[in-house]
Amino acid sequence: MGVVKLVVQVRLLPTPEQAAALEATLRAVNAAATWVSALAHQRRVFRNYDLRRHAYGQIKDDYRLAAQAAQHVVKKVADAYATLHANIRNGNVGRPGSARRERALATPIVFRPGAAHPFDDRCLSWQLEARTVSIWTIAGRMKSVAFTASADQLTTLAAHRRGESDLLYRDGRWFLIATCDIPDRPVAAPDGFLGVDLGIANIATTSGGVRHSGKTLNAVRHRHRELRRRLQAKQTTSAKRLLKRRRRAEARFAANTNHIIAKRIVTEAARTGQGIALEDLQGIRDRVRLRKPQRVTLHSWSFHQLGSFIAYKAARQGVAVVYVDPAYTSQACSSCGHVAKRNRPGQATFSCTSCGFAEHADVNAARNIALRGVTGWAVSHAADDAA
Ligand SMILES: [Zn+2]
Repeated sequence: MGVVKLVVQVRLLPTPEQAAALEATLRAVNAAATWVSALAHQRRVFRNYDLRRHAYGQIKDDYRLAAQAAQHVVKKVADAYATLHANIRNGNVGRPGSARRERALATPIVFRPGAAHPFDDRCLSWQLEARTVSIWTIAGRMKSVAFTASADQLTTLAAHRRGESDLLYRDGRWFLIATCDIPDRPVAAPDGFLGVDLGIANIATTSGGVRHSGKTLNAVRHRHRELRRRLQAKQTTSAKRLLKRRRRAEARFAANTNHIIAKRIVTEAARTGQGIALEDLQGIRDRVRLRKPQRVTLHSWSFHQLGSFIAYKAARQGVAVVYVDPAYTSQACSSCGHVAKRNRPGQATFSCTSCGFAEHADVNAARNIALRGVTGWAVSHAADDAA
């Protein structure tokens, strides 16, 4: 049995006085982190333990930080450099000698005033029933800071929250992001597979015949595109800020939609004792490119997100997941296997020219994915038995 990492994000509703203390605190820890970062960069000292010896006493005094908070600042800086150095090593910051890579090496990391900061159990305690937290600030301990959370989130927090939570400020709102370690259930042997076809008009369609429409999400995206066109012409700072806020709102809306769809799909599979067959998304970029070039990045990103939400929700429920090759799933007949372009007289209809089987095109594709799921599962488990 493994563990599924899950983050629970709750919104804080501080009073004006509490908000002022939180803001001053986040400002102070991030200013301290930027200072430590400059020191680390200048002296080429990046390991947590070494850096603490150089910086701990100074930031405690200069930025009025409690002992725990000062240690977290140093660790945050050490972690940020570890990530940066790993990215440089892996070639994610450009090739050796490139301007981008040189810049990354030459400039110390800077932390924004509202950047996320970790609080451990000594600096932050949760009163789940009262829906409040008590949190260390540079203005003293703030008690009874209210937060909002769904019943689901509260249950998860109560049972599985471990270790640190991140405090952050974004678009005028305060959030706490808690990490939860959720033990996954052993995967049950599936009684057939529920195939999931991903698309644009219908974000997801199952072989059970359930279509999850993309209508609302596409409308939001369309409105956003219109707005972007108007604002990009302006190039003012306020227009840029508005654009950024809209982009985040759209991403939140898309993530929320994906969560809801993932939950419904996993529930459908669990209820019927089936596993879930998903398209292997390695190939989806090419597939979507053939249809709608301008939407490739957006949709492939969103499909990956939906796939990962389904995978972790399935793991929590003990529902098996297999990935299948999605080639020709839209042109093949799920009844007789006949593959032909002419099987698709229209975007939404499938009608087999060989056996006469007719079905909604997305449902037919999902049925093909389900069939491949059965085969894929049998093959991978035959390999298990052999080994
Ligand atoms: Zn057929």
